[in-house]
Amino acid sequence: MAKKILLVEDEERLITNLADKLRAEGYEVFTALDGETGWNMARGSSYDLIVLDIMLPGLDGLSLCRMIRNDSQTSNVPIIMLTARGTEVDKIVGLESGADDYMVKPFGLGEFLARVRVQMRRPTPAQSLKKDRLSAGDLTVDLTGSRVFKKGAEVRLSKKEYMLLTVFMRNEGAVLSRDFLIANVWGEDYLIAESDKRTVDVHIRWLREKIEDNPSKPERISTVRGLGYRFDRFDPPED
Ligand code: CA
Repeated sequence: MAKKILLVEDEERLITNLADKLRAEGYEVFTALDGETGWNMARGSSYDLIVLDIMLPGLDGLSLCRMIRNDSQTSNVPIIMLTARGTEVDKIVGLESGADDYMVKPFGLGEFLARVRVQMRRPTPAQSLKKDRLSAGDLTVDLTGSRVFKKGAEVRLSKKEYMLLTVFMRNEGAVLSRDFLIANVWGEDYLIAESDKRTVDVHIRWLREKIEDNPSKPERISTVRGLGYRFDRFDPPED
């Protein structure tokens, strides 16, 4: 059965482009050009994903996001927020409001589809509640005790390294941008300067030193030039 996506955005050209692209990928797409219509549609049916623009006529995207989160009927649906370029504050507020991800306009349709796929792959909350461990290849994370094991032996990670690893393992196989990693690991401490994005690279280098067999030839966390990083499961045979 096709996954259902609700787009709430008042820029008609953008919403048409996004809808066409998503339909071409096999998703069933519904659109609303203002917040009130979006809210009525969100409550009237169940969706696998809602994409919300922040700036909407009438009821704005942030209020709508909070309403969706606070309503038991809709609280579990993943939400991607769209923000206008340069409104850094909006990004942070967007994440505090309960959004799962955000994109800054203008963005490429390819990156948009990649973010949509990441949200579609997320386990449903019912599954994730039951889940107390993550595992991929030779790595296992005990989520209740916040402990990491490689081939059964404990690996000691700092808090940020641990958070990075769990974000990677939850998005296995997907290319994650530095912005995505900053938003999901650093959150409110979000650093805005371009040079601060190096913080991500530094933490990834530290994480690689702890989980890779050869940190200079990483096989679990790969660098994807110009885009970010990708985690893949890896379990080399014992030698
Ligand atoms: Ca708008």
